[in-house]
Amino acid sequence: RFSKSMGQNFLIQSWVPNDIADASGANASSGVLEIGPGIGPLTVQLARRAGRVVSVELDRSLLPILEETLSGCGNTEILPGDVMKLNIPALVADKLSGLTPIACANLPYNITTPALTALIEADCFSAITVMIQREVALRICAAPGTADYGAFSVYCQYHTDPELLFDVPPDCFLPAPKVTSSVIRLVPRGVPPVPVADEKRFFQVVKASFAQRRKTLLNGLSSAYGSRLDKEALREVITSCGLSADVRGERLGIPEFAAVAARLGELLANGT
Ligand code: SAM
Repeated sequence: RFSKSMGQNFLIQSWVPNDIADASGANASSGVLEIGPGIGPLTVQLARRAGRVVSVELDRSLLPILEETLSGCGNTEILPGDVMKLNIPALVADKLSGLTPIACANLPYNITTPALTALIEADCFSAITVMIQREVALRICAAPGTADYGAFSVYCQYHTDPELLFDVPPDCFLPAPKVTSSVIRLVPRGVPPVPVADEKRFFQVVKASFAQRRKTLLNGLSSAYGSRLDKEALREVITSCGLSADVRGERLGIPEFAAVAARLGELLANGT
């Protein structure tokens, strides 16, 4: 009866939605967007704390029971539909105007990365608090040079300040997932951690650096830019940023990626 394709693992321990709602920072001036209320355990806790809650649920068969759970929550609205097809900023402007928008969810695991990306891209939340697989949470928070560090770490850390809050074991859900979950809070930065003139190029460089893991940055850049810049020029890009010519991409932090992208941009603009 639970839909795997809809990532349905429902919370059955009351401390979990309580602690997630606390971690979300929801208060009377907050307007919460929740993804996937299920049968509503987190929704109820959010409704107790927030000014208003809007919850988007894909599975229409849950709506009758959800309405019953939320019958005492006058500040809550359920929107049937697929969150991935929504214009989130427009929805927030329409339904949560006058409140401080925050996002909170026990995310369906099959859409963790795209859903989180959509919440970050929406660029309208003061905090995003979500429960996700621990493995993904570790990747989001990973430091340069560690095994978990990758392009998604850089993406999340460029746009937000992520913090791993607490773990939730499989037996808190029905059905129990195979893996441990973690609650993380991402606080959007507003301004990037370092100035980046050309974000598109910055993320191209990040992608190129991680495309061939355990290979050198020089190889990664050669694959992506080799048709426009020769290897000597690319080596100069790397060393002029104070990096060793044989550095691996996964050792670079955001400031180093920004420096490499900026120098690369200069050479490409010069048509060198
Ligand atoms: N919040 C509930 C809880 O904690 O018990 C349910 C969480 S369950 C992990 C994920 C929920 O998201 C399910 O109710 C599922 O039907 C819903 N869902 C899955 N994909 C969705 C989508 N694309 N848009 C909106 N809801 C979705």
